[in-house]
Amino acid sequence: MRTLIKGGTVVTADGSFAADVLVDDETIAAVSRPLDELGGALAAMAGSFIDQTIDATGRYVIPGGIDVHTHMELPFGGTFAKDTFETGTRAAAFGGTTCIVDFAVQSRGKSLREGLDAWHAKAEGNAVVDYGFHMIMSDVNDDTLAEMDQLVAEGVPDFKLFTAYPGVFFSDDGAIFRAMKRTATNGGLIMMHAENGLAIDVIAAETFESGITDPIGHGLARYSVLEGEATNRVIRLAQAADVPVYIVHLSAREALEAVRQARDEGLPAFAETCPQYLFLTLDDLGNGFEGAKYICSPPLRTADHADELWRGLVKDDLAVVSTDHCPFDFDGQKDLGVGDFRKVPNGLPGIEDRMDLLHDGGVVAGRISRERWVEITSTAPAKLFGMYPRKGAITVGADADIVIYDSNRRRTISASTHHMNVDYSCYEGREVQGASDVVMSRGTVVVRNGEWVGPSGHGRFVKRATADFARSA
Ligand SMILES: [Zn+2]
Repeated sequence: MRTLIKGGTVVTADGSFAADVLVDDETIAAVSRPLDELGGALAAMAGSFIDQTIDATGRYVIPGGIDVHTHMELPFGGTFAKDTFETGTRAAAFGGTTCIVDFAVQSRGKSLREGLDAWHAKAEGNAVVDYGFHMIMSDVNDDTLAEMDQLVAEGVPDFKLFTAYPGVFFSDDGAIFRAMKRTATNGGLIMMHAENGLAIDVIAAETFESGITDPIGHGLARYSVLEGEATNRVIRLAQAADVPVYIVHLSAREALEAVRQARDEGLPAFAETCPQYLFLTLDDLGNGFEGAKYICSPPLRTADHADELWRGLVKDDLAVVSTDHCPFDFDGQKDLGVGDFRKVPNGLPGIEDRMDLLHDGGVVAGRISRERWVEITSTAPAKLFGMYPRKGAITVGADADIVIYDSNRRRTISASTHHMNVDYSCYEGREVQGASDVVMSRGTVVVRNGEWVGPSGHGRFVKRATADFARSA
């Protein structure tokens, strides 16, 4: 099967140019000067072996989005994130994201292997676009440290640890340091949820006892300075272990300052933020229990933090925007926390809207270039997480994960039209400029003009390489 994508503007992290893209089976076979410009004979010859032509006139041709922070079916607070690998990856594709990296979970007292096997079982045959895994480590001990090496060899080379959630995912500094030292020998990467969870739990209890039981208490208790403190601490632990570190879902000015300082010193410290920290604020946590829709950790911050995060994206102190997609229904799940904000499941839906929100609020708003938009949503995550140039690039030999993107089309975000399996949208009624017209996963068109046209179970596990980019960049 040969597909010619004709007449579009290819936009990559490096630049934009008019080109036709030839897809042969699952990969990109050629990126060429527009065939129509080449003259009759050559164009006709090229046309003779094309099975399918897709007209991309007036639109962008971009590498499919890569979301390296998702939680399909995550168990949390006595319930499960509602999107399965099937519904979550389909929603991703509708939003122009053609690859996810989800977090497999090691349960306390169990092996990493058991957790990874469980996540493979959830995804295999269900995901409709390609997927990889990171591993959440809940226990660091001699056995799990040895297992890390094996996981790196199997293409699961990153490990997420937490300074938050005491009693659940929390690791102390010694455990974090041991895991980091292991990645110095096995080539893996430590990802950190950096908030001082021990101090936050004290403040959250005081907040609750003072009579603040609504969701706003969640935002008030999780001080930004405690994100900054934990971010600086884990960066310094990584410095001592002589390894790179990646801070997930960075939300606070103080945390960004810690990353910026480390990077100015030449340390391999990397960070991502998420759309909710760029487009939503602490005010969304108000409005009584409605605020539960916006409970995630770290919490939403005041608007001045978001301004600083945009500066971080421009200057590359923030390298990636991923979603932390972790949807819970407002009715039946978020309401577990009525009367106690501490019991609201933490997480927001977002996988479907990331590309469009960043196009609208980033490119259209004049904050970042379209090339930088492609970089932070696709190319940089591919590089940092061992998938480049197979993913994240429009180049010969790359997987044909391609989105034909209409940068002019306007649409209104709503739970009534989204494909995520959750009963609300954090962006209900927001109009955005930019939308995916055609989405291709490894050469197969899966979404066309708002309709699902792809096969089920099309997604494949992506065995990822170690993060050499993080070690040499
Ligand atoms: Zn997360």
